[in-house]
Amino acid sequence: MEEYLGSQVFTKDSQVVDKLYWIKECSGVYSVKSAYKFLQKQKGEWRQEDSSSLWFKLWRIKAPAKVLNLVWRSLSYCLPTMTMLAQKHVHVLRICPVCQDEDEPIMHALVGCSLASQCWHNILPDVQQDVNGDFARWLEKNLVQWHNFQGRSTQAFVHLKFEGDGAIYWVKPQARQIKVTVDAAIFRDQMWFGTGMVARDERGELLEAKSRLHNGVVSPELAEDMTMKEALSWIKARTWIQVIIEADCLTVVQVIRSKISIESPFGVVIKKCKSIMLELNDISLIFIKRFANMAAHFLAKKSCSHPDRVFDERKVPVELINILLTYMF
Ligand SMILES: [Zn+2]
Repeated sequence: MEEYLGSQVFTKDSQVVDKLYWIKECSGVYSVKSAYKFLQKQKGEWRQEDSSSLWFKLWRIKAPAKVLNLVWRSLSYCLPTMTMLAQKHVHVLRICPVCQDEDEPIMHALVGCSLASQCWHNILPDVQQDVNGDFARWLEKNLVQWHNFQGRSTQAFVHLKFEGDGAIYWVKPQARQIKVTVDAAIFRDQMWFGTGMVARDERGELLEAKSRLHNGVVSPELAEDMTMKEALSWIKARTWIQVIIEADCLTVVQVIRSKISIESPFGVVIKKCKSIMLELNDISLIFIKRFANMAAHFLAKKSCSHPDRVFDERKVPVELINILLTYMF
């Protein structure tokens, strides 16, 4: 653990009980995918897949594993449709058992059959068909639409979940409220990570801002998580009340809101964040987009040249003033 964290953050807390966890996943739970990636990287054989390839796009679809498995088998021509079985000399009729109108190659089973076609049109009205029966080409053509659909549904979900979630622009808090935006930055080559946080009042004016540099190689999620803990401790020390914390790391925001318990360094810090939030008076947590988080992002990025700095309204770098004025609505 020390090799990867190189930081004293976890060793101070005597209440944390030692547990086994898998360091390559932020959940702490072992996965074959992360172990494979780790071993390949150690051997120098890890190849970042071309982001334009169909497989790259496929494994980034947010769908249950069984759905991705179905698509993977379809693209590998391993789906036992009637036509595929007949081609493998299984004694079956090639005719589709659902519509009983046509043969059942993979494209028919998943796209062309009347039932499948109706399902696709209900989800993606502009779904395209003209790909000469090639499922891979059909998927490639329609993946963009699918990602757009997922983006819309995620936004809708976030919006319904908590008011203010998903804000694109930074907006001033209401009367007597304080907004604290937080962000982290990773400096992998130097084995550092930086934190940035900015507190502003109802007029959008700076109360205080901080940047800090830490030693250690951590995952982006853990860096964001630790920034959140640092910000909460800062709010507690300043005795601010009616505070809204805004972060652009959806994972951290969602896990803090959830009741799940995670046995990993990430989970330990989340637990600490939750306990500090319970002690604070009237605090809420909101997910914002990166563009709304430019001020904290700037400080986190600058932490490597200005480590451990505190700024207030009398002492603010010009670049930060520009960001505070430019990105405020
Ligand atoms: Zn059919």
